[in-house]
Amino acid sequence: MTPRAFVTGIGGQDGSYLAERLVADGMEVHALVLDADGPPADCPEQVVLHAGDIGDIESTRRLLLEVAPTEIYNLAAISSVAQSWEESDLTAHVNGSSAVGLMESARRIGSDVRFVQASSAEIFGEPPHAPQTEATPISPVNPYGAAKAFAHLSAGVFRQRDLHVSSAILYNHESPRRRDRFVTRKITSTVAAIARGDADHLTLGNLDARRDWGWAPDYVDAMVRAARADRPGDYVIATGRAHSVRDFVAAAFAAAGITDWEPLLRQDAAFLRPADPSELVGDAALARDVLGWAPTVTFEEIVARMVAADLD
Ligand code: GDP
Repeated sequence: MTPRAFVTGIGGQDGSYLAERLVADGMEVHALVLDADGPPADCPEQVVLHAGDIGDIESTRRLLLEVAPTEIYNLAAISSVAQSWEESDLTAHVNGSSAVGLMESARRIGSDVRFVQASSAEIFGEPPHAPQTEATPISPVNPYGAAKAFAHLSAGVFRQRDLHVSSAILYNHESPRRRDRFVTRKITSTVAAIARGDADHLTLGNLDARRDWGWAPDYVDAMVRAARADRPGDYVIATGRAHSVRDFVAAAFAAAGITDWEPLLRQDAAFLRPADPSELVGDAALARDVLGWAPTVTFEEIVARMVAADLD
């Protein structure tokens, strides 16, 4: 029988790359799609789509027991920190409780199932040291991080109950498929608009925040490796290099061939957040040693690819 995978969050950046990867691996891929979101972007036609909401734990459980996959990837989430401040209760339910509902469903499928939880660097909040590792204290500072922390800790609990569940602590990861609500895409799409003469400035919030930005398909590859590893675990997935938002802006203007960009950059307090980690940078040594994983695309190349896609 063809091995089956079940993916939540297929409509997002990572979901599309993961679906492509699993189809290429010869898997039968089933995915949950929220009706309200419409057809998922960049989704291979072979994927079997099931209308549903991960927040409806009972219906999702029925579906999962019927599909009986051997690999489950939980990517569904309120995916932006900014949105989590506006909808904290929904974030708690979708990113927290619903992930646990899925783990319990996986446990009921049986012993052959592999589960990967897409966790986040935001579980560390304002970390006491850099770079962070799997041993860094979990201390989130926003509703997104708090809900992801609950799901991450629950993965550890279910692992003790013999579920093969790994938590991939993903640092920021980008691509031309990134949505505009993330700062990277906002920057590259606006810089491209400026280059075309369709915009005359770029307005951002916190320019000093430092993030560890990687290439999204690499992070999807890490999750697949985690699912297929002999033993489950927690893995920081990161490049180990931090850059500021201002660095990203500079690299994007450079990629578009615009040198005198400082006068085009504005700041507006409306884009500042109630709490915003000043630096998140991860040490992926464990993923390298156990999963044989390493990032393959540099920061400058990621920015250049995103700008090129937006200029197209
Ligand atoms: P996050 O790290 O998952 O929250 O990813 P984002 O891309 O949304 O934000 C990364 C960093 O960029 C955060 O520190 C934001 O405060 C900062 N930032 C600065 N200006 C903006 C903006 O206009 N939009 C967004 N989304 N983030 C901004």
